[in-house]
Amino acid sequence: MSARFRVVIIGAGYAGVMAANRLAGSKQLPESLTVTIVNPVADFLERIRLHEVAAGSRASAAVPMRSVLNQRADVIADSVLKIDPINRQVYFSSGRAPLSYDALLYSVGSTQAAKAPVGAYGLQDAESAGRLRARLSQLEEGARVSIIGGGLTSIELSAEIAERYPGLQVRLVSRGVIADTLSHSGRHAVRKRLSALGVEMMDNTDVQACDSSSVRTSGGDTLTSDCTIWAAGFGAPALARDSGLPTDAEGRLMVDESLSCPQYADIFGAGDAVRIPDSVAGHLRMSCAAALPLGAHAADSILARLQKQAPAPLSAGYVLKCISLGRKSGLIQTVTADDRPRSLVVRGRLGGLAKEQICRMTLGWIRGELRRSGSYKWAKGPLPTAAR
Ligand SMILES: Cc1cc2nc3c(=O)[nH]c(=O)nc-3n(C[C@H](O)[C@H](O)[C@H](O)COP(=O)(O)OP(=O)(O)OC[C@H]3O[C@@H](n4cnc5c(N)ncnc54)[C@H](O)[C@@H]3O)c2cc1C
Repeated sequence: MSARFRVVIIGAGYAGVMAANRLAGSKQLPESLTVTIVNPVADFLERIRLHEVAAGSRASAAVPMRSVLNQRADVIADSVLKIDPINRQVYFSSGRAPLSYDALLYSVGSTQAAKAPVGAYGLQDAESAGRLRARLSQLEEGARVSIIGGGLTSIELSAEIAERYPGLQVRLVSRGVIADTLSHSGRHAVRKRLSALGVEMMDNTDVQACDSSSVRTSGGDTLTSDCTIWAAGFGAPALARDSGLPTDAEGRLMVDESLSCPQYADIFGAGDAVRIPDSVAGHLRMSCAAALPLGAHAADSILARLQKQAPAPLSAGYVLKCISLGRKSGLIQTVTADDRPRSLVVRGRLGGLAKEQICRMTLGWIRGELRRSGSYKWAKGPLPTAAR
């Protein structure tokens, strides 16, 4: 190991920036620790607001990186092309000189799902949100917009588009039942609001393919669609797989219960891009609500490793599901630590105000960690499966 201890973080999203702040501000660290975060652009993207950008309710979801990131952390605006885990170096798309690390955090988030039909618009990053925004603004009165997916992102997007473009015919198409992860009253409230906005809901309909003017279902129906959007889940970036690191079938980096990679002890992972054993994370879905605690926990595991201590296993759980239903309404669904709905929901305008506050709090938690490392606390998970 060199005299300095160099932590390199790939991906400045919710997990990566939370980890960078926790590490860079840590009081337990020797002065020689350096933290470098690599991200394609020098802005932080509030990804949870991309449906607002796509629909045109918000100009941008970008926040200046320095307003959320500890000054002690260096930023490299570039993409990592490859990780060399043997020589502990990362290589860049731009061709700049490779960077060496003593500990690496893999937090590259998620991307368009491989199963998304060719020709469908996506909502995975700023570029795809920009393309969708441009397409929606070109559509004529009465044009059909089909959103594929019955989960929270699809619901938020369909409500946002229907509210912003009342002249468009918005259709939500789900393989299962729309909003099926909510309680009975939560699902009822969401569907009532979508109906009021004029969103047509098609449950139990599997989309097989689409082109610029139609959607084809597995039942053999062809539906007119002037803009089809895939919002039924995300995929994993190929970086870990391309670098020869252990991945699951979707390409997510395999890590252990402490978020370190069993084959390479100096590589850690957090956020959407990693696969954590079900024993501690079977209940976690790709979400900002999980990425923040995962980033904080990964930082703690790196600090433990630096101090030659065994990193602790992850414990992280949910408290709420928060859904915007346009700018004037929303739904807060209380949930158990393992994400099952409880009976209490907050709906309507109050639900919308609460959702907006929670979106602001995500940046608040990251900035809180910037001001005082270790300040971010999160809800613990259910008991590990082995202990139940
Ligand atoms: C419209 C929408 C609404 C959502 N709403 C919610 C919500 O209400 N609640 C919730 O919990 N979750 C929500 N999510 C999900 C949430 O945004 C993600 O789960 C979360 O962003 C994951 O955080 P992350 O840190 O893992 O990745 P990200 O936030 O995606 O950050 C990953 C970063 O890594 C960078 N990167 C990727 N590849 C490389 C590379 N090779 N080199 C360098 N950098 C790289 C990316 O550019 C990005 O900046 C929503 C998502 C969308 C799209």
